[in-house]
Order: sequence, then structure tokens, then C-alpha cells
Amino acid sequence: MPLTKRSTLRARVNGAGPTGALTALALADAGWQVDLCDPLEAAALQGRNRAYALTHSSRDLLQRLGLWDELLPALAPFRRLELCDRATHLQVPFTASDLSWLGEGDQPVGWILQHRALMQVLLAAVQRQDSITDRLGMLPAPVTAGLDLVVAADGHRSATRQAARIGHWAWPYRQGCLTVQVRLRGSAPDQAWELFRPEGPFAVLPLGADAFQLVWSAPLQRLRQLEQLDAVAFLDALSGALPEELQAEVLLDQPKAFPVALEWAWPLARRSTVVVGEVAHRCHPVGGQGLNLCWRDVDELHCLARRCASGRLRPRALPGAYGRSRVLDIALVLLATDALVRLFSNRFAPLLVLRRFALQALGRWGWMRQLSLRAMSEGPCRLWRG
Ligand SMILES: Cc1cc2nc3c(=O)[nH]c(=O)nc-3n(C[C@H](O)[C@H](O)[C@H](O)COP(=O)(O)OP(=O)(O)OC[C@H]3O[C@@H](n4cnc5c(N)ncnc54)[C@H](O)[C@@H]3O)c2cc1C
Repeated sequence: MPLTKRSTLRARVNGAGPTGALTALALADAGWQVDLCDPLEAAALQGRNRAYALTHSSRDLLQRLGLWDELLPALAPFRRLELCDRATHLQVPFTASDLSWLGEGDQPVGWILQHRALMQVLLAAVQRQDSITDRLGMLPAPVTAGLDLVVAADGHRSATRQAARIGHWAWPYRQGCLTVQVRLRGSAPDQAWELFRPEGPFAVLPLGADAFQLVWSAPLQRLRQLEQLDAVAFLDALSGALPEELQAEVLLDQPKAFPVALEWAWPLARRSTVVVGEVAHRCHPVGGQGLNLCWRDVDELHCLARRCASGRLRPRALPGAYGRSRVLDIALVLLATDALVRLFSNRFAPLLVLRRFALQALGRWGWMRQLSLRAMSEGPCRLWRG
């Protein structure tokens, strides 16, 4: 029996962080009526001092939702990603020539975007959208009657996930992560670095001109000590961690250490509730996959919501379809980031041989660089979907 087109589909999105705000915009774009709730007011939602690495899967979604052009002035593109293994002293560059699968000429490898600029654009778009009612500064009501969909986007300690009785597993890493913005000498302004050090990966991400965001992974206790140092002592410790050619000169914000864990929610949907973003998964920051994976959840929800609005999918079938279609991408990214951390955060001799072989192959064969960059940039599932 053909499905009839529904006039008004209603959703509530709990959480207006980067994932929740974008989900509300995606559902509205698909023709749904959306309530967006968060206990934080707009100013507090914008107030975090962090920067995200965006890949091409995120760019595609932002373009489809008409947000990319607005974000462009705030984006710092990087055209070269230098992979350096400090234990084997091997270095592999990824450049625009490794993006030939895009077929779009000169494209950056990725972009860095500050949280504040991102949230300003997302919340302004929410304000402009008539079909979104924003309830910022309020906890969501527990009642779900009259809703076709509840989206849990309320972060890794999600109350919505718990209320929906969706399971959640967390495996903390011994490594934590420290983020800080610095003024740096020795790197091109459009170059990013992923340094593999025995204590953990270290990312150097360009923010424009000579400003860079550092994402330093190491045992959490050591990072907590580093966090307490004064600026001079911190810069001193930093010079020991960076390669000789990179010199950090000035701290632009306060170093902040936080724990890192691999987390997974299961199932990804129950009754009318779906889990997205950090409610569904968290991974190690190596390779800058976190927010891009969150936004691929949004992308899938956008496709399914459009099918419901056009009468091609029953709203009741949406949560199950979402869960089935997201599981593989999430599992592969969690496995890949975990494997990278385990493989590269040590000096274990047999693994050093394996690393040497893998990096030499990456350096020699362009098709291997293209394949791995595509998996990182569009998600591993795209490799066989074409
Ligand atoms: C300290 C720290 C530093 C980080 N630094 C970086 C970095 O430098 N680069 C990077 O790429 N990633 C970083 N990350 C990871 C990054 O922040 C996440 O990938 C991203 O925030 C995920 O977005 P989200 O919207 O899924 O979750 P969140 O950003 O956590 O958003 C969840 C939202 O839900 C709201 N909420 C909470 N409870 C409720 C409730 N009961 N009902 C409704 N709403 C609720 C919260 O107020 C919040 O606005 C960092 C994470 C942490 C914890």
C-alpha cells in the first residue's frame, strides 16, 4: 500500500551543541516542525574554547543545508597534512594531489573551525528558521506525546539516552588530551601536523596566520601537571614535545586537559528515540574524526527525515532504519582510531617494524594515501559505496 504524505511531522531535539543544533536545522530543512531544547542559553553554548577539524563529509552536509558559505570566512583551510612518526623518524605528507577522487580541482585536505564561530552561525540559522522553536535555557519536558521523533543530542552523559533505556559502554583510555592555542613558528599557515609520539598522538592544527590549536595526547596525570605550569614552563615543556622545526612562542589561551574514552551506545534507536553525536559514540581525538562522525549521524537522519516528509518512509520506521544504517560507519571509525592509538603510542619493537612498513608504503604509493585520506575524509563506508 503506498504511503500518504504527512503534512506535519514533529520532532524534539534534546541538546543544542554542534550536533543537536545541526540536527534541528537538518530536520527543518526536510520539512519537519522541530523543538530544540538545551539547559544552556545561547551565550553559554558559544562559550567553549576549542577548534574542530572538518573533513569533506562535513563540508558536503553543510553545503546541502546552505550553511557552508556563511562559515567560509571563519574556516582555516589546510592544504597539507604532515604525518610524522617520531619513533621511526618517517614522515608522510598528504596533499591536494591525494584528493583526486573528489574530482574538484584544488581542494584543501580539511578545515579548522573555532567552536564560537560555528555556534554563532548555527544558532543564527536556528533563529531564522520558522519551523524551529528554540527552548534554550530550559530542560526538555519528559512528555513525548504528539512527537514523531525524539533526538538525543545531549552529550556523552545523556539523560535522554538513559530515559529511553538505551545501553552505554565506556572504555577510558590511559591517555588524556590537552588542548591549547599558541602562536607558532616553523609551519606554513595552511599546514596541519599529526605527530605520533610514544606517549600519544599530537596534532598541530592551523587557525589562520601563525595561530595554531594543539591537541596533545599523553598519560592524563602528566597532562594535569602540564596544565598547572606557568606560561614559560609550559612553553618549555612544549618545545620538548614538538619537532625542532616547530617553535611555540606565545600561549593564546589556557591549556586544558580532559579524559578521553571510547564510548558506544546500543541500540542506536529505541521506540521513537534516536541517539546522535556524542550520545551515540566518542572516540580518541587522533585523526580529528569526532565531530565529523557526529555529523554523519545528522546526514543520515536528514536523508531519512526527507523520505518521511515525502511519504516514502513511515515515521515509525525511521528510528530502526537510522540504527541499521549508522552502525557500520561508527564501528569502523571507533576501531580505526583505537587501532591507530595502540599501534603508534609505544616503542614495542615488532610494532615499530609494522609501522615502518606501513609508513614506507604510504609514502611510496599514492593510491594508498588516497584510500586512507578518503576513509578519513568521507568515512570508511564510502570506500565501497563509490
Ligand atoms: C573538554 C573537551 C574538549 C574538547 N576539545 C575538542 C577539540 O579541541 N577539538 C575537537 O574536535 N573536539 C573536541 N572535543 C570533542 C567535541 O567537543 C565533541 O566532538 C562535540 O562537542 C560533540 O558535540 P555534541 O553536540 O554531540 O555534544 P556536546 O557538545 O557535548 O553537546 C551536548 C549539549 O547537550 C546539552 N545538554 C546536556 N544535558 C541536557 C539535557 N538533559 N537536555 C537537553 N540538553 C542537554 C549540553 O548543554 C550541550 O549543549 C572536546 C571535548 C571535551 C569534553
